[in-house]
Formats: sequence, structure tokens, C-alpha cells
Amino acid sequence: MKVSKEIKRVPILPLRGITVFPETVMQFDVGREKSLKAIEECMKEDERLLVVAQKDADVHEPTKEDLYTVGTLVEVKQVVRIKEGQIKVFIRGEARAKILSVEEDFVWAEVELLPEEEEEMNAYQEAMLRTLGETFEEYARLNSRISEEMLFGILAIKNTTQMMDIIIANMTLEVEKKQEVLACTNKVERMYKVISILNNEIEILKEQNRIYSRVKKNINESQKEYFLREQIKVIQEELGDKDGNAQEVENYRERLQALNPPQEVVDKLEKEFSRLIKLQANSPENGFIKNYIESILDIPWGRFTTEQGSLKKANAILEKEHFGLTKIKERILEYLAIKKLSPTMKPPILCLVGPPGVGKTSIAKSIAEATGRNYVRISLGGLRDEAEIRGHRRTYVGAIPGRFVYGLSQAKSMNPVMVLDEIDKMMGDFRGDPAAALLEVLDSAQNSHFRDHYIEMSIDLSEVLFIATANSLASIPRPLLDRMEIIEVSSYTLLEKLQIAKKYLMPRQLKEHALKNVKINSNGLEYIIEHYTKEAGVRNLERILGKLCRKAAKEIVETSVEKITLGQDKIREYLGEPVYTYEKKNENPEIGIVRGLAWTAVGGDTLSIEVNVMKGKGQLELTGQIGDVMKESAKAAVSYIRSATSELGINEAFYQKEDIHIHIPEGAVPKDGPSAGITLATAIISALTQKPVRGDVAMTGEITIRGRVLAIGGLKEKLLAAKRANIRKVIIPKQNEKNIKEIDATILENLELVYASTMDDVLKHVFI
Ligand code: ADP
Repeated sequence: MKVSKEIKRVPILPLRGITVFPETVMQFDVGREKSLKAIEECMKEDERLLVVAQKDADVHEPTKEDLYTVGTLVEVKQVVRIKEGQIKVFIRGEARAKILSVEEDFVWAEVELLPEEEEEMNAYQEAMLRTLGETFEEYARLNSRISEEMLFGILAIKNTTQMMDIIIANMTLEVEKKQEVLACTNKVERMYKVISILNNEIEILKEQNRIYSRVKKNINESQKEYFLREQIKVIQEELGDKDGNAQEVENYRERLQALNPPQEVVDKLEKEFSRLIKLQANSPENGFIKNYIESILDIPWGRFTTEQGSLKKANAILEKEHFGLTKIKERILEYLAIKKLSPTMKPPILCLVGPPGVGKTSIAKSIAEATGRNYVRISLGGLRDEAEIRGHRRTYVGAIPGRFVYGLSQAKSMNPVMVLDEIDKMMGDFRGDPAAALLEVLDSAQNSHFRDHYIEMSIDLSEVLFIATANSLASIPRPLLDRMEIIEVSSYTLLEKLQIAKKYLMPRQLKEHALKNVKINSNGLEYIIEHYTKEAGVRNLERILGKLCRKAAKEIVETSVEKITLGQDKIREYLGEPVYTYEKKNENPEIGIVRGLAWTAVGGDTLSIEVNVMKGKGQLELTGQIGDVMKESAKAAVSYIRSATSELGINEAFYQKEDIHIHIPEGAVPKDGPSAGITLATAIISALTQKPVRGDVAMTGEITIRGRVLAIGGLKEKLLAAKRANIRKVIIPKQNEKNIKEIDATILENLELVYASTMDDVLKHVFI
């Protein structure tokens, strides 16, 4: 029905979250007391009611201010009681109406009906209407909740106002927006509003759809992937290849193709590949076979670095890093020269023997560089298990290849320089003899087909340049020694150490610590070498120089001094008081005190031997941790003296009436060896004859019971020690005369050497 503009008094019903439009049918529940009353009143009258939305749905007892001003006059079609105090109401919208006032009981209100404009549209409005229709169509297409029937039903509505109201009523919008449309009485303006709301919703729907389709796509894709993977699994299961080993084997084949192994290796690997493919995924064998295959593929089959053949270049490289060590350098150059003439020549197996820290390992590294080979170091010290060299048999749980196979893998070529470090420190035990296994490696007749127990195939080691290092020859088994070319590297003299420190160690340390303004001169270096190190090599020296650099760096940063010169005071400040002091020569001639020369692992030293003779019964007492060999030397000395009493001017019966006590100070340090023989004899003779011995004489030599003097070892170190103690005259065995040629002239400077072949020669020089 059409409502003309008029003012009406009607019951009022506030609605929460709902806006009712004219010409729409709706149902809702009513439960609020006042609302129930309003329904009751309206049913008594003409069944007309004003429904109006609350601004805030949460307000329970709204006042006029809580309501929008425009609502809808509706006809109540039906009221159904749901339960006590709650009814369901069916209504039909009739017309927009504006609230003028609300009565106090909040049941009745006075409203003004808002009439709709008469239909009669111009072209502009017609265009708007079409736009509205099209826009709604688009909206409906995007919104699955609007069915096709509903769309066509709405589009078929002839009345524009009605169409707009129904469109808005069917949209899911906030009350506020719906209310805006409801309150708008101008038709064109309302059309604008509706179109813009539709457009806005279309954008939102589009965005929503986009997100939705993306999410859906993701789900679809992962479903697809899962499905495919399952399929692959089934196929692989059918083929007996459950865990994708086929792919792995492909990768292995590629790696194999990049290598150039002997046919034996290819055949063996192919066999392993086909085993691997047939394996079940959870079979423990999987891992074993893969380990095995990878161990084989890690070996650089057929890969060789080209040897650097230029002697000049090799020499330059060797000289760059190392002072001295001439024998080794020469040997390497010789090797390169011969290799040039006879390219098939196999490299020698060198063994560098010498005390720790003299540069054995580091020169080996330079040799690798000089010959253009890769470098790898295998440490043999403490090695007991033969399997470490030859590998474990594959049947052994946790089997791995031996160190040589591992070394080749590390070196990444079949012709590296391989350093066998501390070959003298290998030990055999119940697990077999590693030295015997090593023999096979080092035997040039056998090492072209070295067999590792794990790999189970021949590996050619004949192109490897082996360099073994050892501290002493004594503990290297003879057969092993026979296969190596021994090059001795002796301990460094003070002067050599000075050169090494000056030219190599200090510059290296300064560079490492990025220090520019730290200086040290020879005096400083000498002070450090003498008082803070006691070693044959330069390892400690290098460490101490490093320590000085760190201290200097700290001082420079902390105090911002510009320049530091490492003199004695500075060195003491950084390192503390000197650690080592040396016995100097005796100031005065003494009876029964003679200086001997000893060789230790860390170089030479002097030691004074003291003898007391007392009334007694011919006892010989020895103290100062003297070893068996030295004790025997003492007995030999006494025996010699007894046989020569008359020449020596000693009472013949001394061995019956006198006790002899021999003591070698620093009682806590064990001493042994035969080279103190002549020193012992001299000291006893001096004590028995009461003749003082010169303080600036030192001696070394083995004695026989007939007074002959035999050769000794460690001559260079001993002479160095004598020099350090300011000794003038050194007595050495005549047999050692030939060794003097090898000794640096600087050591011999200011030393008077006496060669003795008998005790007589010795005694001529010792007494004043
Ligand atoms: P080794 O293997 O004989 O025990 P290293 O090769 O480990 O000794 O040498 C210890 C350190 O001393 C290394 O830093 C090395 O460069 C250095 N060094 C030893 N001898 C020399 C030398 N003649 N010239 C230069 N540096 C040397």
C-alpha cells in the first residue's frame, strides 16, 4: 500500500543489528519487556509498528538518543509465542518514517511518514538505474550467497526505489551503512549511495576471492605433490628401490665419470651400485654400502698435479721460508734435476731426523710448494693399530679405510707430498705391527699396488713423495730405515737461531700481529734465546716472540705509545725474570772438579764432575742420578788409574785405603752415557794427586780400562755449550777430528781444540 505524508502515533520497537526496509518481509524474536508491550499494543490497534535500529546493539534499555531517527513503519503479519516472555514476529515493511518524539513509557512514539517520490525518470536516472542493475549483477556473480533466481527476481523489479531497498536489504552490511540508505529520501542520491556501496563490496569480494583461490591453489598443489610422491614410492617399491637410491646412484655415477680410475675400480663400483639399488630402505646395509662407495669416490683416481720442474723457482721457494737446512734443500733440487732427465724416476722416500722444532715439518711443506705438489700430513705418533695404516676389513663394524687412503682423499691428487710425522713414535701391540704395514707403503717395489683392507683394491702410491720425520733413528725399525734416505737435521746454534729469528720468525710474527713499530735487535734476540729458551729447535722461541708481540700490541693499544724497542728491560717486563741460566767456567783451578760436556735432547750443556777422596776402605760411591753406563765409565776410569798409578804418581794402595765419592751436580737431573769417561778419570786423578785442574778446560770422551779415548756423539751441541760457558780449551777424542769439518767456523772461533787418543793426551792439558 502507498502511504502519503502524515504524522502517526505508533508503538515503537527498537531492533538490535537489523535494519528493515520497506517492501521487505522479515522475522525476528522479541523478548524485551518494552518490546513485548509494543507488540501487544500494536496488535490491539491497526497492527502497525515502527521498527528502528539501535545505534549500539549492546544497549539493553535504549533511550531516544540510542536510536537512529529514521525507521520503517511495518505491518505485523504474525506473532508466534516461542516460550514465556519470548515471541517470534513476522513483519512486512511499508514505509520510511522519522521519529518525532518518543513517549515516556517508551512504547509509543510520534512519527512522520516519509513519502517516496513518484516514478517518472529522466534519461540520467535511467542510465543510473542501468548502472545499478549491472553493478548488482557483477556483485551477485562474485557473491555465491546470491542465487541466480534471486538476481533475476531483483533485476525484474520495476520500481527503482523498491529495487534499491531490496538490494541493500539482501547485502551483508553494517547497520550504519544500511541506515544511511534508509535515511536518504532523495532517490538519485540514494542510487548513488547504493552503487558506491556495491562497488566497494565488489572490490572486497574480488580481493576475498583472490585470497581464497590462492589458498585453494596451495592446498591443491601440496595435495598434488603428495600424490605424486606417493606414486613414486609405489613405483620404487615395485622396482625394489624404496628410498630413492636410484637417484643417488646416478649422482655416484656422475662423480665416477669425473675421475679416471682403473677398470677394476669401475667394475667394483658398478657391482656396489646394483647392490645399492636393490636394497630395502630400512636395510642397515644401505649406510655401509654408501660409505664404501663414497670412500672410493673420494680417492682422487687419476688426478695428478703437474710437477714444477724449474730448479731456480724451487730454490727460491725453499729459501723464502727457511734458513739453512742446506742438505734437504740440495737433495730436493737434485731430485728435480734427475726427474728432468728421467721423467719416469720414482720420487725418493726421505726421512728427516732431528730434534723437535728444527723445521722438519715446515720444510716438508715448502718442498710441496717447491715441487708443485699438494701437501698432506699423516701423524704416526702413538699409532698402535695396524688397521690405521692398512684399513679395517669391511666385515668389521664401523670399518673405515686406513690413513693413506684418507690422506690421498685430503690431498686431492695421487702425487702429493705426504709427511709421515713422527715415524719413530709408532708402537706395535696386540693389534699388530704398524711398522710392518708401513713397510709395504714405503717399499717402492710394492707401493704401486698398495692394498687397503677396506677399499679392497690396489691403490698406486708410487708417485707420492714421502717425507718421514723422526726425533731419533734409534727407535725406527731397521727394515723401515733401509727403505728411507736419512737426512739429519741437527739442532741450531745460537747464531743460527739468531738468523732464523731475525729473518723468518720475527717478521712473520710482526706481520701476523700487524705490528709496524716494534723493533728488536740481535742483543735482544740473543737474550731471549739464552735465557728464556732451552731447545734444539726454534719452536719455543717462535712462541715467545709471539708472546712478546701480543704484549707489545696490548701496550700500544692501551697507552698509545708510538714505538716499542724490545731491549733486555722490556723483555724482562713482558716475560718475567729469565728462566734459564748457564753455569759458566770455573773461576779458579780446583782440585777434583772437572767440567764435562753433555748432549741432551734440547742441545748441549756443561756439567761439572766433583770427586772427593777420603780415608776409608776403597769404596766407590756415585751420586747425582747417574745411570748404569756412566757408572761403568767410572769403574773403567778407576781401573785405568789403578793400572797406571806409578805414571800418575798415585799411591798404589789407594783403592784399599781411600774411599772415592763422585758426585755430579744438579742431582735431580738423570745423567747417563759413556762420554763422561775421561772427565771422571781426570777428576779422580786430580783428587788423588791433589793437583788443581784449570777452570777454563772442558772435555768429552769415552774411556777404556786401558786409558784409550773413544769417539762421542753430539759434538756440535757440546762445543756450543762449551762456548756458552766461556770455556777456552776443549778436549775431544781424536776419533772425532773428522767431524770438525762439518762444524760452523763461528762455533770454533776462540776455542782451542785438543784431540786426545789416550788419557795421557788429556792429562797434558788439564793441570796448571
Ligand atoms: P719440527 O717438525 O722439526 O718439529 P717445525 O717444522 O714444526 O719443527 O718447526 C717449528 C717452527 O720453527 C716452524 O714455525 C718453522 O717454520 C720454524 N723453523 C724451524 N726451522 C726453521 C728454519 N731453518 N728457518 C725458518 N723457520 C724455521
